[in-house]
Amino acid sequence: MEKEASTMKVLLLAHTPDPERICCAAAKLTHEPEEKDFVEMMDGMSRGHMERVLGYVLMQQHESVVEHASFTFYVEGVSRALTHQLVRHRVASYSQQSQRYVRLENFSYIVPPKLEGGGRERFEKTMERLAEDYDELLELVPPEDARYLLPNACTTKIVITMNARELRHFFKLRLHKAAQWEIREMAKRMYDLCMDTAPLLFKGVEMYEAEEGTRKTGADVEGTGAGVDNTGSNVEEE
Ligand SMILES: Cc1cc2nc3c(=O)[nH]c(=O)nc-3n(C[C@H](O)[C@H](O)[C@H](O)COP(=O)(O)OP(=O)(O)OC[C@H]3O[C@@H](n4cnc5c(N)ncnc54)[C@H](O)[C@@H]3O)c2cc1C
Repeated sequence: MEKEASTMKVLLLAHTPDPERICCAAAKLTHEPEEKDFVEMMDGMSRGHMERVLGYVLMQQHESVVEHASFTFYVEGVSRALTHQLVRHRVASYSQQSQRYVRLENFSYIVPPKLEGGGRERFEKTMERLAEDYDELLELVPPEDARYLLPNACTTKIVITMNARELRHFFKLRLHKAAQWEIREMAKRMYDLCMDTAPLLFKGVEMYEAEEGTRKTGADVEGTGAGVDNTGSNVEEE
C-alpha cells in the first residue's frame, strides 16, 4: 500500500508564563538588599534591564537561574532513531507513543534524504515488506511482540518538557553539525520557537548561519560566555 511521506511537526505547547522575567528576578534575588520587595522588584524590571542582567549571568555561566523556565513541545513525524538520541538527554520529561500498546498497522517512516542519491527504492520496498510482516504478526501476537519487526525509521510522536538550562545544553549539542540531520532539524525548530518566545534565555546558544548551514560556536559569539563546543565533529553517532 502507498504511504504518504511523513513530515516533521514541532509545536511549542506551553511554557512558564513570562519566563524571562521570572529567571531575571531569580538572578537578581541572589544579590538584592534584604529590604527590597521581591514582587515589586520583579514587576518593575524594564526589558533593557532584563537583557543586561540575563546577559551578564549567562556570560558568567550562572545558568541555574534559567532552570526556572520550562518549555513543553509536541513533536510528530520523526523517526524512532531520532527519539532514541533525544531521550539520552536525561534532564527532561518525555511521553512517547507506545509501540507496546499502539497497533502501528501500515506504519509510516522517515526516508533519509541521502537515499535520494540511490537506494530509496530498495529502502521503501524493505519498509513495505516489514509493514506487511508486522501486520500479519499482529494476527498472532500482541503489538508489544510484533514491534520487534519495526525499524528505526518508523515514525513516532512525543511530548518533551525541558527547562531553559537543559534546552541551552541540548541546542549546543544538537544544533551542531556533528549531530545527525534529523535531530538537528528538530532542534532548530525548537530553538526558533524558544527564540520567538524568550530570546533573552537563549542568548549565546550556538546558531546556524542560515545560508551555509554552519554555525558559530558559543565561543565565537563575542561576550556570550557560552563556552566551547564539546562535540567533536568526528564523534560517532548513537
Ligand atoms: C554528535 C553526538 C554523537 C553521539 N554519539 C553517541 C554514541 O555513539 N554512543 C552513545 O552512547 N551516545 C552518543 N551520544 C550521546 C551523548 O553521549 C549523550 O548521552 C547525549 O548527548 C546527552 O548528553 P548529556 O549527557 O550531556 O545530556 P543530559 O543527560 O541532558 O545531561 C545534561 C548534563 O547534566 C549532567 N549530568 C546528567 N546526568 C549525569 C550523570 N549521571 N552524572 C554526571 N553528570 C550528569 C551533565 O553535565 C550533562 O551534560 C552522542 C551525542 C552527540 C551529540
